[in-house]
Amino acid sequence: MTTTQTPTSASWIAGAATVGSGPRHNIVDPATDTVVATVDLATAADVDCAMRAARAAFRDWSTATPAERSAVLHELARLVDRDAAQLAATETAQTGKSIRLATEFDVPGSVDNIAFFAGAARNLEGKATAEYSGDHTSSIRRTPAGVVGSIAPWNYPLQMAVWKVAPALAAGCTVVLKPSELTPLTTVHLARLATEAGLPDGAFNVVTGTGAEVGAAIAGHADADVVTFTGSTSVGRTVMRQAAEHGTRVQLELGGKAPFLVFDDADLEAAVHGAVAASLINGGQDCTAATRAIVARPLYDDFVAGVAELYRKVVVGDPTDPGTDMGSLISRAHRDRVAGMVDRARAAGARIVTGGVVPDGVGAFYPPTLVADVAEDAEIYRDEVFGPVLTVSSFDGDDDGIRRADDTGYGLAASAWTRDLYRAQQAQREIAAGCVWINDHIPIVSEMPHGGMRASGFGKDMSAYSFEEYLVPKHVMSDITGIARKEWHRTVFRDS
Ligand code: NAD
Repeated sequence: MTTTQTPTSASWIAGAATVGSGPRHNIVDPATDTVVATVDLATAADVDCAMRAARAAFRDWSTATPAERSAVLHELARLVDRDAAQLAATETAQTGKSIRLATEFDVPGSVDNIAFFAGAARNLEGKATAEYSGDHTSSIRRTPAGVVGSIAPWNYPLQMAVWKVAPALAAGCTVVLKPSELTPLTTVHLARLATEAGLPDGAFNVVTGTGAEVGAAIAGHADADVVTFTGSTSVGRTVMRQAAEHGTRVQLELGGKAPFLVFDDADLEAAVHGAVAASLINGGQDCTAATRAIVARPLYDDFVAGVAELYRKVVVGDPTDPGTDMGSLISRAHRDRVAGMVDRARAAGARIVTGGVVPDGVGAFYPPTLVADVAEDAEIYRDEVFGPVLTVSSFDGDDDGIRRADDTGYGLAASAWTRDLYRAQQAQREIAAGCVWINDHIPIVSEMPHGGMRASGFGKDMSAYSFEEYLVPKHVMSDITGIARKEWHRTVFRDS
């Protein structure tokens, strides 16, 4: 048994810990194969309860002043920071990610995101107010969209919950959120802290259950005004179909297959180090991770040798040890899926430069794996692996490189490595992606939007752009003439 906070419940409804009415379920530490917590899963009936609580809380929360909403979010940021060590330890226990990443990225990133929306809550403005018709004053008020149903993945459980909940609450919406049933513990902790911070009961509810039951119940709920989803492309499409039942608007943050494009003038050392960090972050279980290195032929051999050398130095092991670089993957089932894709690539003729072998022993570990000489139509080149696997292929000429980088059904993230301003400008313009980095790959900031295009979904998390998901622009048009028989009535009836 790993020592972590073990809540008696994995749900939080109307300001209180709630035991789900579904089956018993173990939260497993994938690095040790031990049980971290035993919880009772929620059911569709629990979703109904949570939706009612969110609806009941909506009026008061949506009419709270921006300053009041901001104060609660500022306090929530402070409390998450106060509990940082405990949250990081729990995140590591339920995901297998390294404690260094949880401590230095997951938790502070969450604190910063909540703090950003605490400020942004007081900066919500409509656009122009004017007499466009001549006879009326028109103005825009941005009104909270209502009750938000959210569904989150397991890769960054706390951060993904924060990305959904913070902008929604800042906008005046109330939320029912389903974390992955593999990783609900930090999300329930977050909800408890929100209540401690003074958030009204019911404004943020957590229901932990399976996707097939609880996820479907949220996405297809008649009382959800917005459905926001982060997860795989295939489930995202299912969620969109479920939401269509009631014509509910959706936001989808889906999978990715980010290219890492290295031109022949790039700083090779920077590109090699950047590729290692960007492909292995969170064990490669990151939707924006570098997955396809596309390298100009003159640099190709040195790039492959440089990445392979660093991959072999990466310390894979006990995620609770601060000296560990990379912990385990999320589960043995997921590890086997990753290994299967690498095995099929090998069988199809790709060269496994390093890694690619499942280690013996406990835990869902998989080594950093570099796959070279990959065909453009290979499964491993086209489909999301979501593991510590980087493919490398070469190109001749800038147009070919950019074409290859953009040749994917996804459109979430990409990077280009060059010292040439014109190449950088061409790459950022030509590659379809929600984010294009130049000479870096991965950094995010709360002030800038995150979201994709194509099979990576649509809509934005983070930044003021995310308010578009949670606010409806309402046009208010007030007559300023006081005239009873208005000129425009003549177009309908002519008694005047
Ligand atoms: P997933 O799609 O399997 O699950 C995501 C969530 O959907 C989970 O809570 C799951 O229980 C739920 N779900 C499953 N079936 C459902 C159904 N039929 N109806 C409603 N909900 C259902 O994804 P995952 O394996 O948890 O996460 C990995 C995926 O998430 C990767 O594809 C990754 O690229 C993507 N991701 C995207 C972003 C982004 O911002 N674009 C961020 C993180 C992860």
